[in-house]
Amino acid sequence: MYNYPLFRPPSEAKSLILQVTEGCSHNRCRFCTMYKTKDFKVNGMDEINKQLHQLKTFSKAGDRVFLADGNVLCLKTNKLLEIINRVRAELPNLKRISSYAGPKDLLRKSIEELQAIYNAGLTMLYVGIESGDDTILSGVDKGVTKEEIIEGCLKAKKVGFSLSVMLISGLGGQKLYKQHAKHSAEAINRIQPDFLSLLTLLIEDNGVEEELNKAYGYTSLLPRDVLEETLLFLKELNLNSTVFRMNHASNYLTLKGVLNKDREALIKTVEKAINEDNYREDYLRSL
Ligand code: SF4
Repeated sequence: MYNYPLFRPPSEAKSLILQVTEGCSHNRCRFCTMYKTKDFKVNGMDEINKQLHQLKTFSKAGDRVFLADGNVLCLKTNKLLEIINRVRAELPNLKRISSYAGPKDLLRKSIEELQAIYNAGLTMLYVGIESGDDTILSGVDKGVTKEEIIEGCLKAKKVGFSLSVMLISGLGGQKLYKQHAKHSAEAINRIQPDFLSLLTLLIEDNGVEEELNKAYGYTSLLPRDVLEETLLFLKELNLNSTVFRMNHASNYLTLKGVLNKDREALIKTVEKAINEDNYREDYLRSL
């Protein structure tokens, strides 16, 4: 039923997946290979109806739907509303509809459009921020600045969306890891997201490393350096109540807590891992 590869956030593991788009409309981030094999396209209503028909047979298995692939929020608002309404009509007992959203998608939509989307039932957004540092954002070709990311995320929060943001540890490399930690924490402190996830950069193709090196002098970090960066990041955070997860298969260490409440305990766990040289081996990491 799906056109693979298909990605969803770890927290959507039990959700029904409706493939509304294929690929990512940006698809230019230098470190990202997720959708490199796919040309971006928006599936037509016939295809979406067909998938919904099949999902209805599984609907007892879940009360959540994740709209895949990449940034579904880039769709024209009317089209997105039509899809959300169709999902709700076919699966009336749903508790949550969610999707990925790019910061640019949030900026392009007016508050009224975002409100209409939220009111229709798409209430949770996953936003890949990757870094709060402008040198890194420009070097990886993310297509947005730190200020634009913050503006887009605050717009979503103002409307009421539950906001889950993702950063990539190690993206600054040896040269920029300190400013990656510091500027990312600054961005997160201003956004105050509901959920925050740290993934860790995993480069499987040497060509990608060369490209990042040319773009902003990236050279890879050792696992303990990545964790030093995590320490710096945690120490700079000032959050009211953000659920924090570092539990992706790409991470060297698993951390979970609520920030800032659990910050000191998390810092101690990272320090212990560094002191004991005790973290996931590189060969066990995956995307
Ligand atoms: S916006 Fe996200 S999915 Fe698209 S290329 Fe960048 S990191 Fe990959």
